[in-house]
Amino acid sequence: NQQIVLASRPKGMPDTATFQFEDVQLSPLKPGEVLVEPTYFSVDPYMRGRMNDAKSYVPPFVVGEPLAGGAVGNVIESQAEGFAPGDLVTGTLPWATQAVVPGNSLKKLDPSLAPASYYLGILGMPGLTAYFGLLDIGKPKAGETVVVSGSAGAVGIIVGQIAKIQGCRVVGIAGSDDKVTLLQNEFGFDAVVNYKTAPDLTKAIAEACPDGVDVYFDNVGGEVSDAVIRNLNFHARIPLCGQIALYNTTEIPTGPRIQPMLLTRSVLMQGFIVSNYQNRFGEGVRQLAAWVTEGKLKYTETTLNGFDKLPEAMLGLFTGQNTGKMIVEV
Ligand code: NDP
Repeated sequence: NQQIVLASRPKGMPDTATFQFEDVQLSPLKPGEVLVEPTYFSVDPYMRGRMNDAKSYVPPFVVGEPLAGGAVGNVIESQAEGFAPGDLVTGTLPWATQAVVPGNSLKKLDPSLAPASYYLGILGMPGLTAYFGLLDIGKPKAGETVVVSGSAGAVGIIVGQIAKIQGCRVVGIAGSDDKVTLLQNEFGFDAVVNYKTAPDLTKAIAEACPDGVDVYFDNVGGEVSDAVIRNLNFHARIPLCGQIALYNTTEIPTGPRIQPMLLTRSVLMQGFIVSNYQNRFGEGVRQLAAWVTEGKLKYTETTLNGFDKLPEAMLGLFTGQNTGKMIVEV
């Protein structure tokens, strides 16, 4: 068996020195434990935060111990009640080709409902993040303009489509012309701005949003968000979901920036963690699944093949290699 451990804590962007492949011997199952073989791993931006030695809503990874993330896999052997060989399960699994984990850390999945990897994307954490962040905090109303940054990623591509379902004008921000074309032609976005090539981002957003911005779903932070905030309408709402532009910075930029506009335009900005909505996950998954079945919500993922691709997939999130959910198929 192989595992990938955190070799050292990265400063700035992680690199090959961050990850180390190791052979590992599995211990025999104790009562309550399950042997799982992952088939799909999710890599997610929050995992970068866990590489730092910093207190957050999830504890940091330990140097010398395997990294871990959302995964789907098959039960190979079970000493836990309710699990049998062949069951499809999901949970947070170590980056290993097989792992022994407590049964109570796993959830059984119904393989007939959706392809297994969907439980890491549209029917999993990113889908629920889009659903609750947009609807509960953004509260978009028909006819309003919704802007979403990171709009071609796992969360953003779902946010844009849910905003369309609510009857809004939807404007995305993404980092390549291919992503711009895809979002407009396949995912129903009304306009998409390429933040890497727009000569004046504030102006480009103003042109894409002739009636101003009522909801800004923020996945990235930094200068992209500065430009959107300059275009906000009175009483705009900002679900503060992610700040990926800052995750690899060694010093967070400080200064007055554009907060005065939040004040004078009576803007509501609220950070959230998807687990705040844990007791409503059932409702979220049911609605997302219904929209997928009705053809109102389309889904796409970028899949890298092979266990050894996990580090590359993780780093690819920070260079925009993915369209939709980034997945590693083992
Ligand atoms: P994505 O699938 O969106 O992948 C990350 C994308 O971010 C890349 O594809 C890239 O696209 C873009 N990106 C990377 N670096 C930058 C940068 N410096 N400036 C602007 N864009 C950048 O990831 P997720 O959908 O999983 O996550 C999106 C955000 O939501 C993250 O910030 C994440 O931390 C957050 N999140 C928050 C949750 C919560 O509970 N609050 C839960 C889940 C996610 P491009 O080519 O467009 O640059």
